[in-house]
Amino acid sequence: MREWRWLREARLDGRVEWNVPMAELTTLRVGGPAEAVVFAGSEEDVCWVTRACRERGEQLTLLGRGSNLLVRDGGIGGVVLCLGAGFSDAAVRGNTIEAQAGMSLANLALAARDAGLAGLEFAGGIPGSVGGAAAMNAGAYGGEIGQVLRRARLLLPDGTVREAENAELRFAYRTSAILQQGAVVLRAVFALETGEKAEIASRMAELAARRREKQPLQYPSAGSFFKRPQGDFAGRLIEEAGLKGRRVGGAQVSEKHAGFLINVGGATAADFLRLMEEVQAAVYEKSGVHLEPEVRILGEDEGGTER
Ligand SMILES: Cc1cc2nc3c(=O)[nH]c(=O)nc-3n(C[C@H](O)[C@H](O)[C@H](O)COP(=O)(O)OP(=O)(O)OC[C@H]3O[C@@H](n4cnc5c(N)ncnc54)[C@H](O)[C@@H]3O)c2cc1C
Repeated sequence: MREWRWLREARLDGRVEWNVPMAELTTLRVGGPAEAVVFAGSEEDVCWVTRACRERGEQLTLLGRGSNLLVRDGGIGGVVLCLGAGFSDAAVRGNTIEAQAGMSLANLALAARDAGLAGLEFAGGIPGSVGGAAAMNAGAYGGEIGQVLRRARLLLPDGTVREAENAELRFAYRTSAILQQGAVVLRAVFALETGEKAEIASRMAELAARRREKQPLQYPSAGSFFKRPQGDFAGRLIEEAGLKGRRVGGAQVSEKHAGFLINVGGATAADFLRLMEEVQAAVYEKSGVHLEPEVRILGEDEGGTER
């Protein structure tokens, strides 16, 4: 058992919890324990913890709201740094909103609506954080974070903090330079258009209704499990391969939307990984397309092998 003296004695604005099941911190509700989870309370916490881990050669994993993650059953060693609730202020200035990385996208979209600013309506139903959404270039219904994010304050892997403009962040389909470089988003500025509050609200309500109609929101999931293949849809290919409803343990291809793999109760990460492989093999056999997971797969298998 490790002592973790340096972390136990750290003076943080946030807090540390030990042996936290990652199932509690991810929307798929699977995953073994994280040795130490730091819930950052300030930018200083984030900078201090990342530096301390770098200096000690300690493994560091960054977590937003855990809505695009599949954590293996053996859990995550080292430190998980969570930018969540303690990190979620926003300020409206003219046509821009500056938000801290842990703010939920849903609250950001509501803040924009309340300020009469249009451009973030697409983000209302995406259950991630500002930082996770920027890293993943989250998008829906024709909108994407990269279209509205003007500038981000980043902590780079070498410990420097700098402002990066949109063009430097190389936003592309569900990825960005942030993710590729392993940078941490501390805050981001969104440039929006003046709009009619009522119109913005009605567009958000319409998109929320579309989600409720098409997506299995009553089950734990990580949203669309696979990336959209060029010129097609993962859900369509999965359905065509006859996989709707296919189940491994508690993991199932949703009957309502085949692009979603859902936790119908008691699923393990191993169930999801097996189901993922079965879906990939069947779709490849039927249509020659290799489906790539959109979810980020982290951690160790039970028994301790990291893959
Ligand atoms: C019901 C449901 C619907 C969804 N619908 C959509 C959708 O329409 N469109 C879409 O794009 N996604 C969708 N998703 C997936 C998910 O919500 C997005 O990918 C979201 O942006 C992930 O944000 P997060 O904070 O949860 O990140 P996490 O899942 O916690 O992390 C994802 C990645 O981002 C990194 N990261 C997290 N925070 C930061 C930070 N501050 N700085 C740098 N990197 C960071 C993590 O290290 C990890 O690599 C959906 C998920 C669910 C459960």
